[in-house]
Amino acid sequence: MNHRYNRRKFIGAAGAGIAGVLGGPWLGAAAAAEGEVPDLVVFNAKVYTVDSRAPKAEAFAVKASKFVAVGTTEDIKSLIGKGTQTYDAKQMTIVPGFIDCHNHAGGDTLLFEVIVGNPYVVEFVTIASIIEKLRVKAQATPPGTWVDGYFFDDTKVKDNRQLNVHDLDQVSKDHPVAVHHRGGHTSYYNSKALELADVNKKTPNPPGGTFDRDTNGELNGRVTDRARSVFNKAGKRTTYTQEQTEQRGRDGLAYISKQFVRYGLTSVHHEGGDLFALQQVRARGELLHRVSYEASGKVLEAMISSGIETGFGDEWIRLGATSEHAVDGSFSERTMALSQPYAGISPPYKGNVTETQDDLNAWVERVHRADIQVNCHANGDVAIDMVLTAVERAQRLHPRTDARPKITHCTLINDDLLRRIKALGVVPAPFTSYAYYNSDKFHFYGEEMMKHCMAFRSFLDAGVQVAAGSDFSPGPFDPRMGIQGMVTRTGWNGETWGANQKISREEALRVNTLNGAYNSHEEAIKGSITPGKLADFVVLADDLHTVDQETIKDIEIVRTVVGGNTVYQA
Ligand SMILES: [Zn+2]
Repeated sequence: MNHRYNRRKFIGAAGAGIAGVLGGPWLGAAAAAEGEVPDLVVFNAKVYTVDSRAPKAEAFAVKASKFVAVGTTEDIKSLIGKGTQTYDAKQMTIVPGFIDCHNHAGGDTLLFEVIVGNPYVVEFVTIASIIEKLRVKAQATPPGTWVDGYFFDDTKVKDNRQLNVHDLDQVSKDHPVAVHHRGGHTSYYNSKALELADVNKKTPNPPGGTFDRDTNGELNGRVTDRARSVFNKAGKRTTYTQEQTEQRGRDGLAYISKQFVRYGLTSVHHEGGDLFALQQVRARGELLHRVSYEASGKVLEAMISSGIETGFGDEWIRLGATSEHAVDGSFSERTMALSQPYAGISPPYKGNVTETQDDLNAWVERVHRADIQVNCHANGDVAIDMVLTAVERAQRLHPRTDARPKITHCTLINDDLLRRIKALGVVPAPFTSYAYYNSDKFHFYGEEMMKHCMAFRSFLDAGVQVAAGSDFSPGPFDPRMGIQGMVTRTGWNGETWGANQKISREEALRVNTLNGAYNSHEEAIKGSITPGKLADFVVLADDLHTVDQETIKDIEIVRTVVGGNTVYQA
């Protein structure tokens, strides 16, 4: 290959110049003083910096967990001094650490619960295998106590039919049994569960949810969105002591952190979770990735009442936007709120709106006034419109600059919504791995609608800072799978949906790195390989810009580095 990289050497004064350009509140004196010896020098690499001022480089130096110089192998090697660690990348590719802006980080579920589907990759399972796993659990569970299965995916079933109440009755007639869709908006129950919750064929659907029925009008066991709340008080739940709960929380977080860095994720936005456990895991040195913590409930109330704003914390655990305030149902489970009815469903069904406009307005205004970054879950065009209406109202009442209201998913847009998103400076975090992983579900929506779903092309063309949000557990969090789907819009089954929304590999890399940093107001300290920024990067065995685009998801992650420290090595 010829040498087309920028030969400018970013050290010393040059670094300070960049700090000036970025001008972020957290960026101090950027580069190490001239003559200071770096801790680490990486050279002989194909570095894609995601810094538009110097997009390619061969080498960089790290000091005190930050990049201090980026340039050619020759220049950077000249900085090596006594005690400098060196890493010859042997022409492998290096990119900034990946950032996932929406993740439920459910490590405790993965570690301790019955997993009935594959959380990480496309894999088909049998209904028999689900029944068997739950039977084993039921045998070790007292009658009357819930038996739950997780990570079910209704389109990854070999039997090629829906899971139903009769299947789950085979698990047990004495235990309430639930299988939860990985999408998080639908669950399947056995007869005992329905009985304990006092749900029968005459029970009407509550607002924002459904008790689904078969063609004879009998309950089929599938229950959507808000209708599931009746099961909260039914039956007994396995209980844990305070100590056990805390232990599970810590173990779960330490476990998921290992999984994240295995896939090259160096920063993840956590949907809630135990903030105390997170700090303990960090104190023990078991937190390997950086966390933007998205608060709800008690923590959010405490923030509001004590005047703690978004941005509080440090580069390891920082309070980010709120957790996703749900306004509608799910894209993958086909309950999102649409302006047009779903095809082929009678009576006509337009999805679930799970919040009134008045309640939403009040919530958004309250959070916005507290200088906390608003974050709403909205998939369908109806729900996105509601969020924008609430944010427009809050901005009128209490104008704030650079508020970056976040819309998690922001799946189905149109020109009018896009215009309003741009005008408000909304930061959307659409599904990433879905284009590949969920291509078997898009026929429910059809090509015309899919042209406007997960609209990365439209967002980038409009100048919207769109980021990546895997929504794990609903979506696998592998950023390679996400990038491949954004570039090809082709799924595991070979189907391509909404090809008009394809973006380039360079753009997909930016969406998964720098735009993720922007999503949490942290673009001045991470998201690109730039002097002064945190030294978070990933070494890839192949060049994601040149491999066959259908194999991006298979590129080996050789090493993940956070703050200059290797946290994963193949
Ligand atoms: Zn979510």
